[in-house]
Amino acid sequence: MSTRGSCPAVDFSGALLGGLAPDGGLYVPEEWPSVDVHPSVERYTDVAVDVLSPYVAPDLGRDELRAMVEEAYATFTHDEVCPVRPLEDGLWLLELYWGPTLAFKDVALQLVGRLFDRELARRDERATILVATSGDTGSAAIEACRGRDRLDIVVLHPAGRVSEVQRRQMTTVDAPNVHNVAVDGDFDACQDLVKASFADADLRRDLRLSAMNSINWARVMSQVVYYVTAAAAVAPDGPVSFAVPTGNFGNVLAGWVAAQGGVDVDRLIVGTNRNDIVTRWIDTGVMTTEGVEPTLSPSMDIQFSSNVERYLWELYGRNGSVVAEAMGELRQRGRLDIGTARMERVRRMFAAASVDDAGTLAEIRRVHEETGRLVDPHTAVGVAAARAVPRDASVPCVVLSTAHPAKFPDAVEEATGVRPPLPAHLADLLDRPERVESLPDDPAVLADHLRATLGA
Ligand SMILES: *Cc1c(COP(=O)(O)O)cnc(C)c1O
Repeated sequence: MSTRGSCPAVDFSGALLGGLAPDGGLYVPEEWPSVDVHPSVERYTDVAVDVLSPYVAPDLGRDELRAMVEEAYATFTHDEVCPVRPLEDGLWLLELYWGPTLAFKDVALQLVGRLFDRELARRDERATILVATSGDTGSAAIEACRGRDRLDIVVLHPAGRVSEVQRRQMTTVDAPNVHNVAVDGDFDACQDLVKASFADADLRRDLRLSAMNSINWARVMSQVVYYVTAAAAVAPDGPVSFAVPTGNFGNVLAGWVAAQGGVDVDRLIVGTNRNDIVTRWIDTGVMTTEGVEPTLSPSMDIQFSSNVERYLWELYGRNGSVVAEAMGELRQRGRLDIGTARMERVRRMFAAASVDDAGTLAEIRRVHEETGRLVDPHTAVGVAAARAVPRDASVPCVVLSTAHPAKFPDAVEEATGVRPPLPAHLADLLDRPERVESLPDDPAVLADHLRATLGA
């Protein structure tokens, strides 16, 4: 069902392919299935099947789900898929970066790409995923779609404004259904081109344009699994806290969903960079939107954390029209006050801290000096937040490590003097041939290009 309550409920596949609900809300399940697994003796993929089955039933049976889960996580280069390791007193690191693009979005997207493909095959349809990227999410979406039978993917990136590693992670993928476009403009121009393409009804229909973005329910759902495995590994009998570097609030929302399902979560600690809407909200009780500033943790440079809406829906007693009103107010006035009583409930579960670029570099350096480990800037924001907020020292705290340090080598080198090498499977990235089309910032030219490339 939708958080805004004014469109019909859909089944899992409807939410998967639909993305955003037609009333502008986000899809949420009617209930939070309880998490009843004993993962300390199970493999990651076994836990994933147990946790995800209730969400995808009856559209998808356990055996079919199992096959997809096994295939999705076979692309990870660590056998534990999402291993958790001690960092320093009371803090653990949950490593979510062993997927093909070295960042946590692979955990969800490797599965979601396969879920899309299977549902399109069942409907005997095709779809074109159209994405704008400032560097990071494009490669995760490409890896999710490469080689899938029913999908094409087109990724627009701003020419000359993404790092060489980021560009090559997209342009060196050798698959006929992967199409890269370098746009002569900035990231906003790319986003506007995507919007214009979706707004072109003929193009949208002919290409069956679709999105796989971070408000998709299937992405949040896929992320619940590692909260379950990490809690079981670190604190099988007791409470555990999580510290999560946050942009769109999708990752930390999955932790909240795990708690709804019975995982014994003490606190969810949100770490933000200078784009700190969530931290300001938790500190002051009022949510206000501001402009976006570029930081060393670019995957968290956002103006609004869209997935907060799913949490507000529960806070507002699942009253869709009140949620719609609240979101309207935030959009129009840039300000939302949810009241003291609700804010008390928020603060019982969530704590938050914000770290600027200097603080991020200092934290990367401190972690390296004190533990010998290299962490990427996003992870550093999580570690810094875990250390900044007051918390019960007897409760272990798991920091979600969302990117491999080699994905952001410049910041890591600046902080520590050590340049982290790319893992073996990407070592020849700089030598592989690139495939990319350069286009002007013009929706008509893009539309012609898409029709020609995709034969529609
Ligand atoms: C996307 C991303 C985040 C933020 O995750 P949200 O679900 O948007 O909160 C954090 N770190 C990295 C490396 C990311 O790619």
